[in-house]
Amino acid sequence: MKIDVLSLFPTMFDAIMSESMMWKARDRGLLDFQVHDIREHAEDKHRKVDDSPYGGGGGMILKPDVLVRAIESLKPETDTAVILLSPQGRLLTHDVAVELSRESKLVLICGRYEGVDERVRDLAVTDEISIGDYVLTGGELAALVLIDAVVRLLPGLLGAEGAQQRDSHADGLLEGPHYTRPPEFRGLGVPEALTSGHHAEVDRWRRRQALKRTWQRRPDLLARAGLSAADRAFLDDLEREARG
Ligand code: SAM
Repeated sequence: MKIDVLSLFPTMFDAIMSESMMWKARDRGLLDFQVHDIREHAEDKHRKVDDSPYGGGGGMILKPDVLVRAIESLKPETDTAVILLSPQGRLLTHDVAVELSRESKLVLICGRYEGVDERVRDLAVTDEISIGDYVLTGGELAALVLIDAVVRLLPGLLGAEGAQQRDSHADGLLEGPHYTRPPEFRGLGVPEALTSGHHAEVDRWRRRQALKRTWQRRPDLLARAGLSAADRAFLDDLEREARG
């Protein structure tokens, strides 16, 4: 996968993209990542990238000529996903991350200040993505969140077999609790099922814990999760117990 980012603060990407999994993805050739400075596409002598809004009001708007030139310099194909990070975009969810992980190339545009001139959207943007219903000062952190969520799904990156499939949201549920050594810590032990050595029992325990945790914390997710008859029976038991 190739990811090109357009930003006014390109060094913000250095630390995250050169550590841990993001670095591994680049090192293994799974990810070709480049960040480009929008300012390099400003043509006046002050290298101006923003201007005040028509109609007044506070804040500055990223100029359409500079931004569209920057996008066009990356020569996106007609089917390349050119994504503006924006609090007005569709929400980044697991399903959206999966969808984007199937693309061969992403162009990510990081807004700043009051945002970008609307004509950038009209002319050069194919998608807008938000990382949540709040406003950040710029699109860089949002782009990094999107990149991390997408890149960890690339086949061949994560070590543990099937680990992504068990993660929260992958199958519509939250993941259940984890334990590691020591077997006892400050009086708290480890559930017996996990130390039993029986794979089927471990799987059953994990499934039930995932169902229970989702039921407790995000019951809204259960309506869309793929549930078996056994899952439903277990959830019915939880409801009955809760009602006493
Ligand atoms: N005035 C804009 C509005 O109300 O929609 C917000 C501009 S925000 C201060 C500056 C930039 O941060 C945006 O152009 C966008 O790139 C980025 N941004 C802010 N919040 C975001 C979010 N929740 N998700 C993705 N990007 C966000």
